Amino acid sequence: MTLSTHAVPTTTELLSSLVACPSINPGARGQFEAPYGELAMARLLQDILEPWADAFRTEEVLPGRPNVIATFRGKAGGPKRALEAHMDTVDVDGMHIEPFVPTVKDGQLYGRGSADTKGPMTAMLLALIRARAAGRQLNGDWYFISTCDEELGGKGAQHLVESGFRCDGIIVAEPTELSLIDAHKGVERYAISIDGRASHSAYPERGANAIHAMSEFICNLELTCQKKAQAYSGDDAIGPLTMSVGVISGGDQVNRVPQHATIEVDFRIPPGSTLDLVLNCMERAAEATCRRRNGIKIHWERTQHYSPLQPAPDSPFSQALTEHARQHLGNATPQSVRYATNAGFFSEAGIPCMVFGPGSIAEAHTASESIPLEQIERAARFLEAFITA
Ligand SMILES: [Zn+2]
Repeated sequence: MTLSTHAVPTTTELLSSLVACPSINPGARGQFEAPYGELAMARLLQDILEPWADAFRTEEVLPGRPNVIATFRGKAGGPKRALEAHMDTVDVDGMHIEPFVPTVKDGQLYGRGSADTKGPMTAMLLALIRARAAGRQLNGDWYFISTCDEELGGKGAQHLVESGFRCDGIIVAEPTELSLIDAHKGVERYAISIDGRASHSAYPERGANAIHAMSEFICNLELTCQKKAQAYSGDDAIGPLTMSVGVISGGDQVNRVPQHATIEVDFRIPPGSTLDLVLNCMERAAEATCRRRNGIKIHWERTQHYSPLQPAPDSPFSQALTEHARQHLGNATPQSVRYATNAGFFSEAGIPCMVFGPGSIAEAHTASESIPLEQIERAARFLEAFITA
């Protein structure tokens, strides 16, 4: 048992220190210095956790971008479980508030990451620290894991699973307004290119217009996905396969038939479906497009993916957590949501998972992101009771 003479931080102190430490996902910028990257956050978490945890380590996932893993030993022979919260946030362009100057007003703490997901992370840290400070035994070993790169690819969670980490259950921190989430969609993102043939625009028949072909391909893809969606018979809250083209580019000048066009597409797939669903839609759309247009080539590359979260209602972890929520929060039925989280990667590796946390997903990524401090307090009490029960 580790006892520490360190002071237990208040909710506001702890969350303020996390928000004041910028950790914007650098994405493709290749910049890992503050305010980008997770290194400073990993060091801050080390300072916060080391007085209380039995072990602390980092694992480098991408250059300068680690995961954090702290171990809190509990009752021998008990289950091994984890609390996971990602370190990174989205960018701060266009924010209406000072992103890294945490400010409390009317019981809300404002700042980038306050809702997604430093507030939910605060609840987890408080649960572990308070249990330790009070000398309460944990009901088994608990890991606190903080991953990098959740917002733009989930490389931290994927690395954790690929490095062989397994346990009996993981609570993934996201702002769910204190509901348990046990199912969500997965994401498949593709960059799709069409190569045509350039020509003088006065003689378009000599070329193969890549932009025209792309517009047709997009219509075909949308139709194919809609047909698949009509056959969906699953959970209404999750809904069927959807697709959205988020980026398009092509051509270089108006008097030249363009040789090249590219799109980036975001597909959302329901639990139980696989990558084949998406590949099949793209293949059909490509066939239909090439049938009507000569001289074009369509190719694609998978750029990002998040696995769907499959419910594991029969696992001891899910049953214990659901019962705990019934007793302490009065909401017994786990919910399904459309957005993806790290939980999908863990559930794909066979680890039962639920998503839980204070704050609202409607606040995540917004220009004036905030979280009610009172909800963090409720989440912290709920989690502390769960890890010591
Ligand atoms: Zn998040």
